[in-house]
Amino acid sequence: MNLNSTIEKEFRINETQKKALKRLGLKTIEDLLFYFPNRYESTEDLREIKGLKKGEKIILYAQVKKIKATKAYYKKIPMTEAVLEDASGVITAIWFRQAYISKMLPEGSFAKFTGTISERNGKLYLANPEYHEVSTLPIISDESLFSEKDKDSFVLPIYPETRGLSSKWIYHTILKIFSEGVMDEIQDPISEKILKKYNLPTLKTALIWIHTPQKKSDAEASRKRFAFEEIFFISLLRAKQKTAYQKNPSFKISKTRKELKDFIDRFPFKPTDSQTTSIKTILDDFKKDYAMNRLLEGDVGSGKTAVAAATIYAITTTAPKDRPSARLQTAYMVPTEILAKQHFESFIKFFEYLNINIGLITSSGCFKFPSKVNPTDWTKISRSQLLKWVSNGEIPILIGTHSLIQKTVEFKNLAFIVIDEQHKFGILQRQKLTRKNSTESGTKELTPHLLSMTATPIPRTLALSIYGDLDLTLLDQMPHGRKPIITEIVTPNKRNQAYEQIKLELKKGRQMYVICPRIEEADPNKAGALRVKSVVEEAKRLKAEIFPEYEIGVLHSKMKPAEKEEIMNAFTEAKIDILVATSVVEVGVNVPNATVIILEGAERFGLAQLHQLRGRVIRSNHQAYCFVFSDTKSDNTIKRLSALKTAKNGFELAEFDLELRGSGELIGNKQWGVSDLGMEAIKNLKLVEAARTEAQKLIEDNPDLQDYPLTAQKIAKIEKLIHFE
Ligand code: ADP
Ligand code: MG
Repeated sequence: MNLNSTIEKEFRINETQKKALKRLGLKTIEDLLFYFPNRYESTEDLREIKGLKKGEKIILYAQVKKIKATKAYYKKIPMTEAVLEDASGVITAIWFRQAYISKMLPEGSFAKFTGTISERNGKLYLANPEYHEVSTLPIISDESLFSEKDKDSFVLPIYPETRGLSSKWIYHTILKIFSEGVMDEIQDPISEKILKKYNLPTLKTALIWIHTPQKKSDAEASRKRFAFEEIFFISLLRAKQKTAYQKNPSFKISKTRKELKDFIDRFPFKPTDSQTTSIKTILDDFKKDYAMNRLLEGDVGSGKTAVAAATIYAITTTAPKDRPSARLQTAYMVPTEILAKQHFESFIKFFEYLNINIGLITSSGCFKFPSKVNPTDWTKISRSQLLKWVSNGEIPILIGTHSLIQKTVEFKNLAFIVIDEQHKFGILQRQKLTRKNSTESGTKELTPHLLSMTATPIPRTLALSIYGDLDLTLLDQMPHGRKPIITEIVTPNKRNQAYEQIKLELKKGRQMYVICPRIEEADPNKAGALRVKSVVEEAKRLKAEIFPEYEIGVLHSKMKPAEKEEIMNAFTEAKIDILVATSVVEVGVNVPNATVIILEGAERFGLAQLHQLRGRVIRSNHQAYCFVFSDTKSDNTIKRLSALKTAKNGFELAEFDLELRGSGELIGNKQWGVSDLGMEAIKNLKLVEAARTEAQKLIEDNPDLQDYPLTAQKIAKIEKLIHFE
């Protein structure tokens, strides 16, 4: 057996296990070694019924003697009640609001229960335990559960997502692997020096400890090592990418702020100091010999578009070296067609006085401003026509969705790329855009300047790691005169009151968003079906019961682009008063007259995401309102949601989310290529900073990692993975 032998060859496995391994992407012995448990169960928690006390967290093996669905007498809450028995006694188990469990666990069956002992009217019961059916009951005193007789407290690793593959099986398989001497093949990609400095175990030790810890501190030390390793490698990769990017010669553009003055003076508002500084920083980048790679991070509504427009102006009014009468080009990429259209229209307003062409490319059509027939309007044109004008340089500003990345799109003098809502795009998509100048253009060897923009508030540690290759500018000031959104947490008994308040706003001519977690109603007969509001049903209900006199429209991701556009237009033109939508409106939509937002089922979203959604209504100087509707009974949830009332900005909320709910709740962590373990590490600023410092040091001394072949290999592997994202 060696690290690369397949599990299938070395172990006898059945069809179910085969499928499960495939689903988890585990093929080789090495894969399995790197499949980590997410928690441990200790035999210390394993108990008999006799002697249990209130408040104890326990694991119990018992037989289900009786089980039935019933209703709690006081509030008629549906529940399941069961009588459990082991050799030492009996106890009742109660699952509130989960009547279906009575059908899942037949009388007479054996199961493992994990839960907390509660007490009511002097009687102990097991409240809402997790359960897992087993074939027989273990005999605790004699053959201890995990056949490790002589240890008082043995810990069993519990692996994630083991459908078809028990944690016990994985554990025993790993023990066999350990005994085969395979571990001696393991080489550590992190140098001894670093391990010593931070007191981290070697890779071999860490692998043994994470699967078979003898004590809690072993498990913790090895998790720390793997977390460090992950952040270290991400940082290395980013540092390497940054050094590489700075070798790219680019378009040298020497516009001054003075030269931008006329353009900026035309804005219908005075820029914030933060906007002015950001514009200056970007102009400074343009003057350098190499390509800019900058992230502009600013809360929703902080005015990123204006910063982009002003810097685009600097590009547009600069001529390519060899053609004094022509203009350098800009590509502006956004994630949705609605947004693309909206930006197309605002850019026409910004730039029309310059008499330049502006193009729009999406999968449902291409457009150009100005139209030949009517010079103040835009017109639909064929794709091939648009592409021709882009490639011969006649369209200096091209706005678009993912369609911009397609092979057929080629520029003559692409000098600037703006990626709006950049967290919605993969790294590969961004990279593709930087190679868009055609071979005949003469600018092929130049890399365009790249400005990424995002409002996604993420904790600082995470930003440091995943955006380590970018220079960061924060837009940390809201436009002058913006009133903070008045946010209310609305429990079911306060709903009607909230609706009355909303009616007053609608009467003033304002519009409203209602955000629901689902598109269509879930099947209520399904066990555990989530009874959450759906867009379609909620729109009907609001029309029938609450707001009959108003126009209500729906918007969700399953609609066709043309339908979405129609609805969005109607909402923009105030033909629709209330827009009931899924979180598709999350990104960038700008309707200043919409000043009220209801967030339904709010407990299901992360705070940072709720904040993003709420940002839809802070687009003007009217007072905006956000109603956070939740049916939750949990005080903790209400407390968490209440952070929306006090937090100063999205970053604060992101930190809050990380602390309260854990890393899994940060929006889309998968897309960053950071594992759950790595995300855990993000909570630890010191660890993140240490890993980053070491990575930067290593790259400075060793730009190609020439002295560290193992590390270089590992980095190449991660890079490849990210490219397949
Ligand atoms: P975001 O940063 O979320 O992309 P936008 O660029 O869409 O924000 O700007 C939000 C709104 O604020 C727009 O209607 C824009 O015209 C307006 N705006 C931008 N900057 C200012 C400013 N300095 N003063 C007043 N309003 C502004
Ligand atoms: Mg925006």
